[in-house]
Amino acid sequence: MSVHALRGGARAEYDVVLVGAGLVGAALALALAPQSLRVALIEAQPLDQMEQPGYDERTTALSFASVRILQSLGVWSALARHASPIRHIHVSQQGGFGVSRFDAREVGVDALGQVLPNHHLIAALLDRLGRQEDLDVYAPSRVVAVHQDGGRMRVRLEDQTERFEIHSRLLVAADGAESPVRTLLGVGVTRRDYGQSAIIANVSPGIAPQGRAFERFTPDGPIALLPLSEARCALVWTVSSLAQQWALELPDAQFLEELEARFGRRLGRFERVGRRRAYPLALVRSRRMVEGRTVFLGNAAHAIHPVAGLGFNLALREAAILAEILAEATDPGDRDILEGFEQRIERYQDQIIGFSDALPRLFAQRFPGFEHARSLGLLGLDLLPALKTGFVLHTMGLDSGMPALARGSGPSRITGGGP
Ligand SMILES: Cc1cc2nc3c(=O)[nH]c(=O)nc-3n(C[C@H](O)[C@H](O)[C@H](O)COP(=O)(O)OP(=O)(O)OC[C@H]3O[C@@H](n4cnc5c(N)ncnc54)[C@H](O)[C@@H]3O)c2cc1C
Repeated sequence: MSVHALRGGARAEYDVVLVGAGLVGAALALALAPQSLRVALIEAQPLDQMEQPGYDERTTALSFASVRILQSLGVWSALARHASPIRHIHVSQQGGFGVSRFDAREVGVDALGQVLPNHHLIAALLDRLGRQEDLDVYAPSRVVAVHQDGGRMRVRLEDQTERFEIHSRLLVAADGAESPVRTLLGVGVTRRDYGQSAIIANVSPGIAPQGRAFERFTPDGPIALLPLSEARCALVWTVSSLAQQWALELPDAQFLEELEARFGRRLGRFERVGRRRAYPLALVRSRRMVEGRTVFLGNAAHAIHPVAGLGFNLALREAAILAEILAEATDPGDRDILEGFEQRIERYQDQIIGFSDALPRLFAQRFPGFEHARSLGLLGLDLLPALKTGFVLHTMGLDSGMPALARGSGPSRITGGGP
């Protein structure tokens, strides 16, 4: 990998230019590495400042299928020791009697998923990318203009000192929910504000989670607790937008009391909470996944409610499918190729987005009798083995349309050792 702070030495013509070295852009760059494509990765931030470790580190719940993809990309061996397995998921609602439990053993696997600090994930991806000789990285550099010009995209970059232009046959915008590339190309979004914010923090409960993840639905929104190392849990507590400041400003002891009042004492008393951060929640979906020779991926394509922790998992799957489809292409920006990509991802994407959108709204309904129906729904899920197994396989990211990388059969010429 050559990192270009300046234009000097870089090529101007690429097959694929990826904008954004967040989790999604970095994963796609790695998935493309075995192919003989000229690839450039552009990132606005300095690469060594992407995520910070510590008690307050941010985490991502990875589905079973995502772990398989990361294994195929050759990064899991560096990540496994930092991961906390999810062996059991407990779903309940405040004030309702129904409970549903999902156990890894029921579907014959060791773990339903893994929870991983983001800084380890991005560091492992960037480290592996650093060993790819054919990849050009422009960081810190910002994309400031894009134009389609016949069979190529013209991409204008700006770093601390100058502006310059590179060209590619395919442009992939993995530049986040506010996607500057999407705006520059005039592609609109559909947006639904949930009127909610996710309060994120790491907490230490009295009883170590030991592989248990919890999803608890309250009238204000869901609370997710995911197992982390050092007996911590990653908390994602959804509150109404009006309660955001309240939740951020409460003294620690009171915050933990409020949490316990809603979550109960399944994990004993909460003893510590780290720094709290708020993320206003909205479903933002690009009106198009493909615009000419540009593909939108990750949050640039769809930023979804974090209730089920599926945003990155969905994006990683789509990145793996794109890499698989490009392996067969002579022109990576060819219209038929990109249409094939859209068709392949459409159905599953709609299902996951629909699920993540419906779940918090279903549990937010306050009509008389609704709580009872929901309790029965949770009980039904727990009692009907076929339905439950289907639900679990879905959240594990396992279905018939999985990318080859998730089946462990993708191309393998990623430099730097095996999984
Ligand atoms: C509270 C919360 C919890 C979540 N938990 C989970 C979970 O448990 N599991 C899960 O699967 N998903 C989860 N998600 C979703 C997940 O975080 C996102 O899907 C993921 O971060 C999207 O990554 P990305 O690479 O698309 O975007 P980003 O991480 O936003 O990366 C975009 C990158 O593009 C760069 N960029 C922007 N503009 C430019 C430009 N002009 N030029 C160059 N570079 C540019 C940015 O600097 C950035 O590095 C959660 C989300 C939230 C909000």
